[in-house]
Amino acid sequence: MKDLVIILGAGESGVGAAILAKQKGFSCFVSDAGSIKPVHREELNALGIDWEEGKHDEVKILSASLVIKSPGIPEKNELVRKIRGKGIPVISEIEWAYRFTGDSKVIAITGSNGKTTTTALTYHICKQAGLDCALVGNIGYSFARQVAIDPKPWYVAEISSFQLDDIVQFRPHVAILTNITEDHLDRYDYQFRNYINSKFRIAMNQQASDYFIYCADDEVTVQYINEFNILSNPLPFSMRKELLQGAFIKDQEMNVVTADEKFQMSIYDFALKGKHNQYNTMAAGLAASVIGLRKDKIRDAIQSFEALEHRMEHVANVRGVEFINDSKATNVNSTWYALESMTRPVILILGGVDKGNDYSLLLDLVKEKVKAIVCMGTDNLKIHEAFGKDVAVMVNTGSAAEAVHSAFKLADKGDVVLLSPACASFDLFKNYEDRGKQFKDAVKAL
Ligand code: ADP
Repeated sequence: MKDLVIILGAGESGVGAAILAKQKGFSCFVSDAGSIKPVHREELNALGIDWEEGKHDEVKILSASLVIKSPGIPEKNELVRKIRGKGIPVISEIEWAYRFTGDSKVIAITGSNGKTTTTALTYHICKQAGLDCALVGNIGYSFARQVAIDPKPWYVAEISSFQLDDIVQFRPHVAILTNITEDHLDRYDYQFRNYINSKFRIAMNQQASDYFIYCADDEVTVQYINEFNILSNPLPFSMRKELLQGAFIKDQEMNVVTADEKFQMSIYDFALKGKHNQYNTMAAGLAASVIGLRKDKIRDAIQSFEALEHRMEHVANVRGVEFINDSKATNVNSTWYALESMTRPVILILGGVDKGNDYSLLLDLVKEKVKAIVCMGTDNLKIHEAFGKDVAVMVNTGSAAEAVHSAFKLADKGDVVLLSPACASFDLFKNYEDRGKQFKDAVKAL
């Protein structure tokens, strides 16, 4: 038996980490202060992996030689402090999985918004082009589980800033940073700079043979990029300027230019609509191109991709009113893009758990496009303060069904009811999926 590995948190990433640890011959123990899902408990039992829930056995945990921490557990957590205090290394599940990937390569995607979309699109392109790869992270298996049960030569991984906080060696061959806007500041001492540092960690172990894909139109990324000693090849993408290398949009054509390849594609052929998705498509197209996939395959895949649930998802047209589910918009920036892409008058359903939102960023678009705001949350004060003066109709609701009914009453034929809350969902819902699903159910019941 090798040293004791402790896994804190038994979600998909923790259980995946445990499965991998067991497979590699480590003695491991899973500890979760909350309750562990029955399906995960059964899995751990079947593999003979010890676990506890509802508590942490500190003595045992502090005897570990390595701790793999769930991204959900903040650094301020008392137990984490004690572990650090004892000098026990703490890593993320991404780091853990990476250590067993051998010669395989990773395309890693991070950013404040667009991670899941860009990851899913990149994976779709890679698969369509015949690359032997797996999709890991937020959608599908955790990275560790995939490495344990079905290792692949390539992984396309969605990586959060929390996962990046605890990497050591993790080195993606291709890193994509979609953008950086304020988010999760509660986990970063309310210092935006700490969050920025965290995002750039995606490139910190990259070497000259790797690639760093970033948005040249993103002010924060561009402002800080030179402060990080990034050794990989920079590949920017932009819709504002032509680039010698990278991807850009000019005259409605996307141009992808890398050292070995060059191709064009009309943005009208993109499966994903909206300006934000043009950015995501450029990033994914560049990643696919730089690893040598064929341009005709890339083009076909960009055209055939199907949009993801809860992200600008068309739900239904009810008596001339269109309903769009963008429940995944959990911060102001994603709601900004949702509104930006609207071409008809909007009834906006907004609200939930505020993460330190600056709503003034939405004000211009709200004034231009929003007829009424339906607040959906337990505390809507900030939303009233931000928009009360400029939006004629503001109503409070306390459930998805109530919000949908209110919005439908306020809507005229030709309007759009957009659920794009700019907030987390935990006041009224289990998570954003639950919020989106309840919204869709309420729309279908109209
Ligand atoms: P993430 O995984 O980073 O949360 P998603 O792809 O799930 O990102 O999209 C989350 C929300 O952000 C959606 O509401 C979507 O409309 C919006 N969004 C997607 N891509 C971008 C982008 N590049 N910039 C800004 N907003 C975006």
